Amino acid sequence: MSRVDLSPLQISEIQKLISGKVSTNQSVLEQHSHDESAFPPVIPSAVVPVISTQEVSNVLAYCNLHKIPVVAFGAGTSLEGHVVPLHGGISLDLTGMNKILEVSPDDLLVRVEAGVTRMALNTKLANDGIFFSVDPGADATLGGMAATGAAGTTTVRYGSMRENVMALTAVLADGTVIHTGRGTRKLSAGYDLTRLIVGSEGTLAIITELTLRVFGIPEKMAAAVVRFPTLNDGVAAATAIVRSGIAIARCEFLDAQCIRNLNSHEKMGMLEAPTLFFEFHGSPQGVIEDAQSVKEIVSEFAGSAFEWTSDEGERRKLWQARHNAHWAALAAHPGMRGVSTDMAVPMSQLSVAVSMAQEILESHRFPFSILGHVADGNFHCSIITDPSKPSERDEIREIVHAMTMKIIAMGGTCTGEHGIGAGKIDELVVETGAEAVSVMRSIKKTLDPHWILNPGKIFVA
Ligand SMILES: Cc1cc2nc3c(=O)[nH]c(=O)nc-3n(C[C@H](O)[C@H](O)[C@H](O)COP(=O)(O)OP(=O)(O)OC[C@H]3O[C@@H](n4cnc5c(N)ncnc54)[C@H](O)[C@@H]3O)c2cc1C
Repeated sequence: MSRVDLSPLQISEIQKLISGKVSTNQSVLEQHSHDESAFPPVIPSAVVPVISTQEVSNVLAYCNLHKIPVVAFGAGTSLEGHVVPLHGGISLDLTGMNKILEVSPDDLLVRVEAGVTRMALNTKLANDGIFFSVDPGADATLGGMAATGAAGTTTVRYGSMRENVMALTAVLADGTVIHTGRGTRKLSAGYDLTRLIVGSEGTLAIITELTLRVFGIPEKMAAAVVRFPTLNDGVAAATAIVRSGIAIARCEFLDAQCIRNLNSHEKMGMLEAPTLFFEFHGSPQGVIEDAQSVKEIVSEFAGSAFEWTSDEGERRKLWQARHNAHWAALAAHPGMRGVSTDMAVPMSQLSVAVSMAQEILESHRFPFSILGHVADGNFHCSIITDPSKPSERDEIREIVHAMTMKIIAMGGTCTGEHGIGAGKIDELVVETGAEAVSVMRSIKKTLDPHWILNPGKIFVA
């Protein structure tokens, strides 16, 4: 598929379909040319800001007719080249669709437009004593989070986007508007189109509205930090905690390099050793009991004293630091970019998987750190590369591919939460098999026959 550039006539015709201003300004094009990955940027032909489902429908119907590629753009924080317009066309900017449409505390539901960010939503929900739980490190849009099937530090307790998106309004490639799902806890009505669109990375439909499940803010929250002599001890402790069934709200692993980066970036003074961060949610008594049980388990794995806090400021600072781990790694290597792996394995394989990744990375020259949502069996290696040396990126790609093949052989997945994007197209075939990928392609062809929606992602166009 070759690159598509819009003619001045096409730009002026699209301009008539929306109330905002189509942009071909170089800095706006550049802003929409990349995500947070190390993928080389590609500029779109134009950036089209939309503010309603109707405008999205108008633009898609036009682009479908003229076979113009459309790449949805939320906050641009994805990590596999997702928003890079590989084949030109338009970047459809959804950040103007930022209204919180309905808050229903009694139903524990909210309805939002796709461009609302998770932090803006939680600021609003705090007034009602409720919160939206999915928290990728970045302040992503809820449309982007649904499109990537995002997860985060609290997934072990509250689930990922796949569990928390109840219903959607979405626009198909030809401009048809569909509504999927209901605000009910149970649903058995036909094919599950909500979960087909969640995780489809903007290749099947553009999400314009989402109904999301929310939770009551727990009566008590407390955090704890424990250090371990080795990376393996920490991971094995996390595995044992999960197996015990204790209701942890968060359990995050950071290797000594991550802690070193955070100490410098966040001005913290943590001991530079493999570390687990925990959080507990519940009644005051329940939190104490859960923490006590975890404390007993970590001591069996040579864990340090349990550094515990229920002070709100301290707790927030700890998790802010965890969410800043990616930026801290980059700050430790000015001018560099990070390649983030996203492997996940069944819990019983976690310790072997993390040790395998560490050994492989230690045998190469690239600086790296390892962290992960270990209670979900999901971990990330952040590998540092010099963007001015494209050969490094190819070398890292091969290293990551080798690790991923081993992970798949263990029964794991190439991506627990970031998605396939342009980066894991080959790995998807190995993981699911050519037959399953062929079914995915048939679905894509049915919903998007001209292949205009985010071409070059998930499959080669
Ligand atoms: C520091 C850092 C930490 C991160 N930690 C995590 C983590 O813990 N867990 C995790 O899951 N991710 C994590 N990520 C990755 C990223 O935040 C998620 O992938 C997030 O879901 C992307 O949302 P976004 O709004 O930035 O989407 P974008 O990057 O703008 O888009 C992502 C994809 O979704 C499509 N898309 C966007 N909006 C829509 C829409 N309305 N309809 C259809 N398709 C759409 C785009 O075309 C693209 O394919 C992290 C990223 C960073 C930079």
